[in-house]
Amino acid sequence: MDMGENMLIYDLSYEDLSQYILSKGFKRYRANQIFEWLYRHRVKSFDEMTNLPTEIITMLESEFKLNPLEFVLRHQASDGTLKCLYQLHDGHLIETVLMDQHYGKSVCVTTQVGCNIGCSFCASGQLKKKRDLTSGEIIAQIIETERIAKERIAYVVVMGIGEPFDNYQHLKTFLMTINHPKGLAIGARHITVSTSGIVPKIKEYAHFPLQVNLAVSLHAPNDVIRTSLMKINKRYPVGEVLDAIRYYIEHARRRVTIEYILIDGINDSVDVATELASRLKGLNVYVNLIPYNEVIEAPYRRSPREQMVLFYDTLKKHHVQVTLRKEQGHDINAACGQLRSTHLKEESV
Ligand code: SAH
Ligand code: SF4
Repeated sequence: MDMGENMLIYDLSYEDLSQYILSKGFKRYRANQIFEWLYRHRVKSFDEMTNLPTEIITMLESEFKLNPLEFVLRHQASDGTLKCLYQLHDGHLIETVLMDQHYGKSVCVTTQVGCNIGCSFCASGQLKKKRDLTSGEIIAQIIETERIAKERIAYVVVMGIGEPFDNYQHLKTFLMTINHPKGLAIGARHITVSTSGIVPKIKEYAHFPLQVNLAVSLHAPNDVIRTSLMKINKRYPVGEVLDAIRYYIEHARRRVTIEYILIDGINDSVDVATELASRLKGLNVYVNLIPYNEVIEAPYRRSPREQMVLFYDTLKKHHVQVTLRKEQGHDINAACGQLRSTHLKEESV
C-alpha cells in the first residue's frame, strides 16, 4: 500500500487504517474513532475529530487528504432522479446519479474516468479511459451525494461510467468499506455490481466474501449481434460469458441479473427473444429489460413500447424470469456518461 503524502484517507480499508494506526504506535481503538468521524459524522476536516489527541490530528493532516470531490453542478428530473457532476482533484469530471426506486433511494456510482470497453451504444464508451477511480473516490460519491440530496441512501449500484472489473482492486476495497459495520454499513444484498462480461473476473468475483449482487450486461444472445454492440465480445464471447455466469452461480450460490437494453431493430425481435430464452435455459438468472436511452454519440433508437412488451412476453412464455424496467431520468440524460459528455461539449464550445 502506498502511504505517500496526500493519500486520500477514504482509500484506506478498516484493516489498512488499523494497521497504520498501530504502526504509528497508537491503540487500535483510534482507528475505530477515525472511521466513525469519516463515515458516521462525515467530517469535512481532520480538526473536527475532537476525541483524538492533537498529535494524531496533526499526523493525519500531514499525510492524508479528506475531500476528494468538488461539487460542480446538479440536475433534477421530474421523476426525482438527481444527477451530480463532480470534479476530482486532478480536474477530471465524474457523475453520480441518485434514483428514487419504489423500494428506496439508490445511488449509481462511477468507477473510471471514461471507459475502454467502448460499447457502440454507450456515451461513456466514446470517451477513452483517462484513469481508474480509487476506492475512496468511489465512496466519496455516496457521501457527497447524500449530503447534497439530504437523503439517506439505502442501495448502491456500480453502474455509472466505467467497467468495475477493469478496476478490480479498488472495487473490492470500495465494497468492503461501504459494507463494513463501521463504514457506511450498507447491506451486501443492497449493493449491485454491473459488468460488461470480463470472464476471468466474474469467476474471481464468485469467491468474493460478501454477498453482493452481480449483473452482467449481455444485450444479445449470439456473437454476431453482441459483437456489433460490444467489441469486448470478441475477447469474451457469449458462450464464455454464460459459462462464467454458470460458474458464479454454482460457487457464490446467488442468482445473477442479466441486463438487456432493447434497441430498435437490433436485438428486440421475437426470434432474438426466443434465442435468448434457449441460451439462458437452466441458469438461475433473471433478465432486466431496459429501454435504450438514445444518445447523440450513437445511431441507435429505442425499441417501440409494443416491441418491448412482445419481447417481454416471449421470454415469459419460455419461463424466463424477466422484468421490464421503466425508464428513468430520461429528461436529464440519465443514461451513464451523458451529463458528463454534454457538459464537456458545452465547455469546449
Ligand atoms: N460497464 C458496466 C457498468 C456501467 S454501464 C457495464 O457495462 O455493465 C451500466 C449499464 O448501463 C450497462 O448495462 C450498460 O449497457 C447500460 N447502458 C449504457 N448506455 C446506455 C444507454 N444509452 N441506454 C441504456 N442503458 C445503457
Ligand atoms: Fe463501458 Fe459499460 Fe459503457 Fe460499455 S456500457 S462502454 S462497458 S460503461
